[in-house]
Amino acid sequence: MRYPLHIATDMIRWQVKNKVQGNTRFPVVLMLEPLYACNLACIGCSPERHTGDLKDRLSLEECLASVDECGAPVVSICGGEPTMYPEIVELIEGCIERRKQVILCTNGILLERFFKKARPHPRLLINVHLDGMRETHDTVCARTGVFDKAIAAIEDGIRRGYTVSTNTTVYRETEMDEIEEMLAYLTELGVQGVLLSPGYHYEALANRDHFLFLDDIHRKFKRVLQLSRSYAVGSTPLFLEFAAGLRDYPCTPWGNPTRTPLGWKGPCYLIGERHYATWDEYWNGVDWDYWETRSDPRCQNCKMHSGFEPSVVRHLGSNLRDVWTMAKFQFGPKPGGKPISSHPS
Ligand code: SF4
Repeated sequence: MRYPLHIATDMIRWQVKNKVQGNTRFPVVLMLEPLYACNLACIGCSPERHTGDLKDRLSLEECLASVDECGAPVVSICGGEPTMYPEIVELIEGCIERRKQVILCTNGILLERFFKKARPHPRLLINVHLDGMRETHDTVCARTGVFDKAIAAIEDGIRRGYTVSTNTTVYRETEMDEIEEMLAYLTELGVQGVLLSPGYHYEALANRDHFLFLDDIHRKFKRVLQLSRSYAVGSTPLFLEFAAGLRDYPCTPWGNPTRTPLGWKGPCYLIGERHYATWDEYWNGVDWDYWETRSDPRCQNCKMHSGFEPSVVRHLGSNLRDVWTMAKFQFGPKPGGKPISSHPS
């Protein structure tokens, strides 16, 4: 089994409910950013986040109201650095009371403090950011020691009974041999899955040179697809095929609505053309027909999981072979870290 069974059953129930109600578009994962503040200033991140200011955060009530308005079965609490959010434990508990699956996306630095206040729960997944092994990750995070802290937190979390996964952005400079080394290491540590997504370049980012263009993305993700047969890669195989250029999807920007302290961000997690004050203004105000087509210049090099993992879910029923591939991924054994050379490509 790859992910807890309740995630699949919640998702199927949510899809059936929406189909019955005649909804062709419906949210899948709420990206909830309770605050902008972060305790790092990573090179791939927007500079406006690099503030320790906790004043401009959403209140706990606003966060939970957003969870209710959106209705998505999965809530990804990101940011900013969500473990800095003073009400983080109450927020997670509120989501779990609503029978949501919570993904806590964190750089790991404050997890030790978080573990003292929180408890493991089957509906809580800790997702630690790791962009490579020690030297690379510390460079990306622009601070020495972040890798060691993150690894210590992953080990501590697993020991305490938390389900822990990691997520990695693959940059233009990323060496794929190092990605294999990291996958072998994390699989051995016992992480649930390593999510990998191509970096995305757009004008809001401070250093665009680090981001990939399509040919690079395809080449690197063909390798990821191969590695996923041997290591605990958590991205779905159909998304990896898409990232490798072996299949195509329209974008599904409405699959992952993003709530920030400024409002509902549209059209997608990456592009904040506008922040809408209410859910209804956002849901009915974004031109989804346009953004699904990926014809906007800013969409040309985008293969981010936030836009396209929902596309995998959306188009799954249209092909039995894809259903079988996903069933094998979800219910088959998790690859156990055997050397890639022992596996046929
Ligand atoms: S293709 Fe990427 S940038 Fe364009 S709408 Fe989709 S997620 Fe956003």
